[in-house]
Amino acid sequence: MKIEKNAIAFPISREMALDFGLVEPTEAEREERAAVMAQWQAKRDAAQPGIGAALAALDALNGVEREMLDLHSFDRTKRYAQECEGCDFSGFEGEPPAWPCRTVDLIARSHGIDLSEFYLYEPEA
Ligand SMILES: [Zn+2]
Repeated sequence: MKIEKNAIAFPISREMALDFGLVEPTEAEREERAAVMAQWQAKRDAAQPGIGAALAALDALNGVEREMLDLHSFDRTKRYAQECEGCDFSGFEGEPPAWPCRTVDLIARSHGIDLSEFYLYEPEA
């Protein structure tokens, strides 16, 4: 029986190599990436008042909706990938649904509360 070293190779894009710090960006790439980041940060900053208003509108709801929203909450201190803490999930590779989950989305829509920019949520420092 002959044992050979197992090796695989796969191509990666220059973008991916830059993202992982495998190569140094050129000056043009550095400027382009800084501009994209600045644009994204401006979009995120502009979205915060609307997101805050939407969360305040949800927080003001009462009754059974209040109880449902308290169950289907998220960690407001977490900066990325907010997950619903109330949805059931299972399975070997099961992961909690992202927040707002279907339940929260249904409640928000029924009150005309717009959560479409929630993905830009930034917790208050
Ligand atoms: Zn949920």
